Amino acid sequence: MQRHPLCLEYIIVHEMVHLLERRHNERFRELMDGFMPGWRQHKEGLKEVPLTEEYWEE
Ligand SMILES: [Zn+2]
Repeated sequence: MQRHPLCLEYIIVHEMVHLLERRHNERFRELMDGFMPGWRQHKEGLKEVPLTEEYWEE
């Protein structure tokens, strides 16, 4: 995780957005865009981190 501080930020924002929208749908992505523009790039780094499959399924 130390190598990817932005991944941790992505996880936090992802969980915050889930408080507003439980599903990985279009509204979820719009909220992510609002909180963290460029989140799609941060998500790429998560592929190196185990136990986070939930975060890059959408
Ligand atoms: Zn999720």
